Amino acid sequence: MIRFDDVVKKFDDNIVLRDLSFSVRPGEFVSLIGPSGSGKTTILRLLMTLERINGGTIQVGDEYLSHMDRGGKLVPADERHLRQVRKRIGMVFQQFNLFPNMKVLQNITEAPMRVLGKSRDEAERRGKELLDMVGLSDKVDEHPSRLSGGQQQRVAIARALAMEPEILLLDEVTSALDPELVAGVLAVLREIASTTDITFLCVTHEMQFARDVSDRVMMFDAGQIVEDAAPDKLFTDPDEERTKAFLHAVI
Ligand code: ADP
Repeated sequence: MIRFDDVVKKFDDNIVLRDLSFSVRPGEFVSLIGPSGSGKTTILRLLMTLERINGGTIQVGDEYLSHMDRGGKLVPADERHLRQVRKRIGMVFQQFNLFPNMKVLQNITEAPMRVLGKSRDEAERRGKELLDMVGLSDKVDEHPSRLSGGQQQRVAIARALAMEPEILLLDEVTSALDPELVAGVLAVLREIASTTDITFLCVTHEMQFARDVSDRVMMFDAGQIVEDAAPDKLFTDPDEERTKAFLHAVI
Protein backbone atom coordinates (compact mmCIF):
# COMPACT_ATOMS: atom_id res chain seq x y z
CA MET A 1 0.00 0.00 0.00
CA ILE A 2 2.93 2.29 0.81
CA ARG A 3 6.43 1.80 -0.48
CA PHE A 4 9.57 3.90 0.02
CA ASP A 5 12.65 2.94 -2.00
CA ASP A 6 15.98 4.62 -1.23
CA VAL A 7 14.22 7.84 -0.32
CA VAL A 8 16.43 10.85 0.37
CA LYS A 9 15.01 14.03 1.86
CA LYS A 10 17.11 17.10 2.59
CA PHE A 11 16.30 20.50 4.01
CA ASP A 12 19.18 22.58 2.60
CA ASP A 13 22.27 20.68 3.75
CA ASN A 14 20.44 18.78 6.46
CA ILE A 15 19.85 15.20 5.30
CA VAL A 16 16.68 14.20 7.11
CA LEU A 17 16.01 10.81 5.44
CA ARG A 18 18.92 8.71 4.18
CA ASP A 19 18.23 6.07 1.54
CA LEU A 20 15.12 5.05 3.41
CA SER A 21 13.31 1.91 2.24
CA PHE A 22 10.28 0.26 3.78
CA SER A 23 6.83 -0.91 2.79
CA VAL A 24 3.46 -1.22 4.47
CA ARG A 25 0.93 -3.85 3.40
CA PRO A 26 -2.78 -3.12 2.95
CA GLY A 27 -4.56 -3.14 6.31
CA GLU A 28 -1.36 -3.14 8.33
CA PHE A 29 -0.96 -0.88 11.38
CA VAL A 30 2.62 0.37 11.53
CA SER A 31 3.91 2.66 14.27
CA LEU A 32 6.96 4.90 13.93
CA ILE A 33 8.85 5.58 17.15
CA GLY A 34 12.19 7.21 17.88
CA PRO A 35 13.79 10.40 19.12
CA SER A 36 12.49 13.80 18.20
CA GLY A 37 14.00 15.08 14.95
CA SER A 38 14.63 11.61 13.54
CA GLY A 39 12.42 12.20 10.47
CA LYS A 40 9.13 10.52 11.41
CA THR A 41 6.83 13.44 10.66
CA THR A 42 8.68 14.14 7.43
CA ILE A 43 7.64 10.68 6.20
CA LEU A 44 3.98 11.54 6.77
CA ARG A 45 4.38 14.94 5.11
CA LEU A 46 5.98 13.32 2.05
CA LEU A 47 3.02 10.95 1.75
CA MET A 48 0.62 13.90 1.97
CA THR A 49 2.70 15.51 -0.82
CA LEU A 50 3.37 18.50 1.46
CA GLU A 51 7.11 17.96 0.84
CA ARG A 52 9.12 16.63 -2.09
CA ILE A 53 11.86 14.05 -2.03
CA ASN A 54 15.41 14.61 -3.31
CA GLY A 55 16.04 11.00 -4.34
CA GLY A 56 14.45 7.56 -4.54
CA THR A 57 10.78 6.74 -5.08
CA ILE A 58 7.57 6.71 -3.06
CA GLN A 59 4.58 4.63 -4.13
CA VAL A 60 1.03 4.76 -2.79
CA GLY A 61 -0.75 1.70 -4.13
CA ASP A 62 0.46 1.52 -7.70
CA GLU A 63 0.96 5.27 -8.05
CA TYR A 64 4.32 7.02 -7.93
CA LEU A 65 4.61 10.46 -6.32
CA SER A 66 7.44 11.51 -8.65
CA HIS A 67 9.39 10.35 -11.69
CA MET A 68 12.67 11.02 -13.50
CA ASP A 69 12.47 13.35 -16.48
CA ARG A 70 14.59 12.77 -19.60
CA GLY A 71 17.51 14.65 -18.08
CA GLY A 72 17.49 12.38 -15.01
CA LYS A 73 15.94 15.04 -12.80
CA LEU A 74 13.37 14.00 -10.19
CA VAL A 75 10.06 15.77 -10.82
CA PRO A 76 6.77 15.49 -8.92
CA ALA A 77 3.85 13.75 -10.57
CA ASP A 78 1.39 16.19 -12.13
CA GLU A 79 -1.10 17.91 -9.88
CA ARG A 80 -4.11 15.93 -11.13
CA HIS A 81 -2.33 12.70 -10.31
CA LEU A 82 -1.22 13.95 -6.87
CA ARG A 83 -4.80 14.95 -6.10
CA GLN A 84 -5.86 11.37 -6.75
CA VAL A 85 -3.15 10.13 -4.38
CA ARG A 86 -4.16 12.63 -1.67
CA LYS A 87 -7.76 11.43 -1.88
CA ARG A 88 -6.63 7.99 -0.75
CA ILE A 89 -4.94 9.33 2.38
CA GLY A 90 -6.37 10.88 5.54
CA MET A 91 -4.32 12.57 8.22
CA VAL A 92 -4.95 13.42 11.85
CA PHE A 93 -2.60 15.94 13.44
CA GLN A 94 -1.46 16.80 16.92
CA GLN A 95 -3.50 20.02 16.69
CA PHE A 96 -7.00 19.03 15.65
CA ASN A 97 -7.53 21.99 13.28
CA LEU A 98 -11.32 21.84 13.31
CA PHE A 99 -13.18 24.68 11.57
CA PRO A 100 -14.12 26.84 14.60
CA ASN A 101 -17.06 28.57 12.91
CA MET A 102 -18.79 25.30 11.95
CA LYS A 103 -20.73 22.96 14.18
CA VAL A 104 -19.38 19.48 14.78
CA LEU A 105 -21.49 17.74 12.11
CA GLN A 106 -20.69 20.37 9.50
CA ASN A 107 -16.98 19.94 10.20
CA ILE A 108 -17.44 16.34 9.08
CA THR A 109 -19.83 16.80 6.14
CA GLU A 110 -18.13 19.72 4.37
CA ALA A 111 -15.35 17.84 2.56
CA PRO A 112 -17.41 14.77 1.55
CA MET A 113 -19.96 17.12 -0.06
CA ARG A 114 -17.37 19.32 -1.79
CA VAL A 115 -14.70 16.82 -2.72
CA LEU A 116 -16.52 13.48 -2.99
CA GLY A 117 -19.71 15.04 -4.36
CA LYS A 118 -21.96 13.46 -1.72
CA SER A 119 -25.46 14.80 -1.17
CA ARG A 120 -26.13 16.63 2.10
CA ASP A 121 -28.41 13.80 3.26
CA GLU A 122 -25.84 11.15 2.59
CA ALA A 123 -22.97 13.15 4.14
CA GLU A 124 -25.03 13.89 7.26
CA ARG A 125 -26.17 10.30 7.66
CA ARG A 126 -22.58 9.06 7.43
CA GLY A 127 -21.34 11.93 9.62
CA LYS A 128 -23.78 10.93 12.38
CA GLU A 129 -22.71 7.28 12.13
CA LEU A 130 -19.09 8.32 12.48
CA LEU A 131 -19.83 10.59 15.45
CA ASP A 132 -21.59 7.66 17.04
CA MET A 133 -18.52 5.51 16.39
CA VAL A 134 -16.24 8.01 18.17
CA GLY A 135 -18.72 8.33 21.06
CA LEU A 136 -19.97 11.84 20.30
CA SER A 137 -23.49 11.38 18.95
CA ASP A 138 -24.74 13.95 21.49
CA LYS A 139 -22.38 16.67 20.16
CA VAL A 140 -23.66 16.90 16.58
CA ASP A 141 -24.87 20.50 16.96
CA GLU A 142 -22.14 21.73 19.28
CA HIS A 143 -19.40 24.17 18.30
CA PRO A 144 -15.86 22.77 18.58
CA SER A 145 -14.84 25.37 21.16
CA ARG A 146 -17.34 23.84 23.60
CA LEU A 147 -15.67 20.41 23.43
CA SER A 148 -12.69 19.09 25.37
CA GLY A 149 -9.43 18.50 23.51
CA GLY A 150 -10.10 14.77 23.51
CA GLN A 151 -13.56 15.28 22.06
CA GLN A 152 -12.19 17.66 19.41
CA GLN A 153 -9.60 15.08 18.44
CA ARG A 154 -12.30 12.44 18.10
CA VAL A 155 -14.23 14.79 15.79
CA ALA A 156 -11.01 15.21 13.76
CA ILE A 157 -10.76 11.42 13.48
CA ALA A 158 -14.39 11.18 12.34
CA ARG A 159 -13.72 13.97 9.83
CA ALA A 160 -10.76 12.07 8.37
CA LEU A 161 -12.80 8.85 8.13
CA ALA A 162 -15.66 10.65 6.36
CA MET A 163 -13.34 11.00 3.36
CA GLU A 164 -13.15 7.19 3.12
CA PRO A 165 -9.36 7.01 3.16
CA GLU A 166 -7.50 3.81 2.35
CA ILE A 167 -4.60 5.06 4.45
CA LEU A 168 -4.77 7.01 7.70
CA LEU A 169 -1.69 8.90 8.90
CA LEU A 170 -1.60 9.75 12.59
CA ASP A 171 0.90 12.33 13.81
CA GLU A 172 1.23 12.37 17.60
CA VAL A 173 -2.53 12.62 17.90
CA THR A 174 -2.54 12.60 21.70
CA SER A 175 0.44 14.90 22.35
CA ALA A 176 -1.63 18.04 22.82
CA LEU A 177 -4.14 16.39 25.18
CA ASP A 178 -4.43 16.47 28.94
CA PRO A 179 -3.39 13.04 30.26
CA GLU A 180 -6.91 12.04 31.33
CA LEU A 181 -8.21 12.51 27.77
CA VAL A 182 -5.62 10.35 26.02
CA ALA A 183 -7.19 6.96 26.73
CA GLY A 184 -10.53 7.85 25.08
CA VAL A 185 -8.83 8.88 21.84
CA LEU A 186 -6.62 5.80 21.78
CA ALA A 187 -9.64 3.55 22.43
CA VAL A 188 -11.39 5.04 19.40
CA LEU A 189 -8.34 4.45 17.21
CA ARG A 190 -7.97 0.90 18.46
CA GLU A 191 -11.60 0.23 17.57
CA ILE A 192 -11.20 1.69 14.08
CA ALA A 193 -8.02 -0.28 13.47
CA SER A 194 -9.67 -3.54 14.44
CA THR A 195 -12.95 -3.02 12.58
CA THR A 196 -11.82 -1.49 9.25
CA ASP A 197 -9.27 -2.49 6.62
CA ILE A 198 -7.63 0.95 6.65
CA THR A 199 -3.83 0.98 6.51
CA PHE A 200 -2.31 2.99 9.38
CA LEU A 201 1.01 4.76 9.68
CA CYS A 202 1.22 6.20 13.17
CA VAL A 203 3.90 8.46 14.68
CA THR A 204 3.53 8.14 18.43
CA HIS A 205 5.13 8.58 21.84
CA GLU A 206 2.50 6.31 23.38
CA MET A 207 4.55 3.15 23.70
CA GLN A 208 1.84 1.07 25.33
CA PHE A 209 -0.59 1.99 22.56
CA ALA A 210 2.00 1.22 19.87
CA ARG A 211 2.59 -2.11 21.50
CA ASP A 212 -1.11 -2.98 21.79
CA VAL A 213 -2.35 -1.93 18.39
CA SER A 214 0.53 -2.24 15.90
CA ASP A 215 1.27 -5.11 13.59
CA ARG A 216 4.79 -3.73 13.21
CA VAL A 217 6.88 -1.03 14.89
CA MET A 218 9.72 0.81 13.19
CA MET A 219 12.31 2.46 15.40
CA PHE A 220 13.88 5.51 13.73
CA ASP A 221 17.04 7.41 14.41
CA ALA A 222 18.74 10.04 12.27
CA GLY A 223 16.55 9.40 9.23
CA GLN A 224 17.08 5.67 9.12
CA ILE A 225 15.26 2.61 10.39
CA VAL A 226 17.22 1.20 13.29
CA GLU A 227 14.91 -1.75 13.86
CA ASP A 228 11.67 -2.97 12.29
CA ALA A 229 9.92 -5.72 14.22
CA ALA A 230 6.69 -7.04 15.68
CA PRO A 231 5.79 -5.04 18.80
CA ASP A 232 6.32 -7.89 21.25
CA LYS A 233 9.82 -8.39 19.94
CA LEU A 234 10.74 -4.71 19.72
CA PHE A 235 9.46 -3.75 23.15
CA THR A 236 10.66 -6.78 25.12
CA ASP A 237 13.73 -8.04 23.32
CA PRO A 238 15.10 -5.44 20.89
CA ASP A 239 18.19 -6.34 18.89
CA GLU A 240 19.69 -2.88 18.61
CA GLU A 241 21.43 -0.84 21.29
CA ARG A 242 19.84 2.36 20.04
CA THR A 243 16.37 0.85 20.46
CA LYS A 244 17.23 -0.30 23.98
CA ALA A 245 18.54 3.14 24.93
CA PHE A 246 15.49 4.90 23.49
CA LEU A 247 13.00 2.60 25.22
CA HIS A 248 14.92 2.89 28.46
CA ALA A 249 14.66 6.70 28.25
CA VAL A 250 10.93 6.86 27.47
CA ILE A 251 9.31 3.98 29.37
P1 ADP B 1 10.39 13.81 14.04
O1 ADP B 1 8.98 13.74 13.52
O2 ADP B 1 11.04 12.47 14.14
O3 ADP B 1 10.49 14.59 15.31
P2 ADP B 1 10.82 15.56 11.79
O4 ADP B 1 10.50 14.76 10.59
O5 ADP B 1 9.82 16.55 12.27
O6 ADP B 1 11.28 14.59 12.98
O7 ADP B 1 12.16 16.39 11.53
C1 ADP B 1 13.35 15.77 11.06
C2 ADP B 1 14.39 16.85 10.81
O8 ADP B 1 13.99 17.67 9.72
C3 ADP B 1 14.66 17.79 11.97
O9 ADP B 1 16.04 18.03 12.02
C4 ADP B 1 13.89 19.02 11.59
O10 ADP B 1 14.50 20.15 12.16
C5 ADP B 1 14.03 19.03 10.08
N1 ADP B 1 12.89 19.70 9.41
C6 ADP B 1 11.61 19.25 9.40
N2 ADP B 1 10.83 20.08 8.67
C7 ADP B 1 11.64 21.07 8.21
C8 ADP B 1 11.43 22.24 7.38
N3 ADP B 1 10.22 22.51 6.88
N4 ADP B 1 12.50 23.01 7.12
C9 ADP B 1 13.72 22.70 7.61
N5 ADP B 1 13.98 21.64 8.38
C10 ADP B 1 12.96 20.83 8.68
